[in-house]
Amino acid sequence: MSPSGASQPRPSVGRAVHYVSHGTPVREDGSRAYTSVCRAATVTEVDPQDSDRVGLAVHNPGGTFFHPLAAGGCTHAAVDGEQPPAGGTWHWPEVV
Ligand SMILES: [Zn+2]
Repeated sequence: MSPSGASQPRPSVGRAVHYVSHGTPVREDGSRAYTSVCRAATVTEVDPQDSDRVGLAVHNPGGTFFHPLAAGGCTHAAVDGEQPPAGGTWHWPEVV
């Protein structure tokens, strides 16, 4: 029952998406210094061979970081239920 079905638009340059930050490793007691969170991001380029892979400018609170296709870009991972998608992926912003 995910809203991210086959009707999703394809990404294009300038679209606003979410980038999932990499959290820090889980400690032995199960806690983490930083968990994975959604960050605002802008699509800067789209892989012509694979429109799920994009370059992003990620707008963190402390600065903007770039993930160009030349460095691998970011692949799409749908939000499905409670678990956040893997760090380093992008998705369409959740409707709240
Ligand atoms: Zn998100």
